[in-house]
Amino acid sequence: MRTAVLDLCAHTEGRKKVPISEILLEILICPLCKVKVELTADASGLKCPECRRVYPVRDELPVMLPDEAIIEGAA
Ligand SMILES: [Zn+2]
Repeated sequence: MRTAVLDLCAHTEGRKKVPISEILLEILICPLCKVKVELTADASGLKCPECRRVYPVRDELPVMLPDEAIIEGAA
């Protein structure tokens, strides 16, 4: 039996063009700073403008975990 989530994915053709919807971006916030994150230029992550953490996007699902985030400029 398919779930509602799977149905949603099935209808999202051409999803590579828009990995993350604008609606999703509106509700995604850095769990540490409580500010909205921004999609990176290559759409591979979500960057917090406050702490500069870049949260990875895996299989088009943002991983909003500080442990998984990379701090940009730290290297
Ligand atoms: Zn932050």
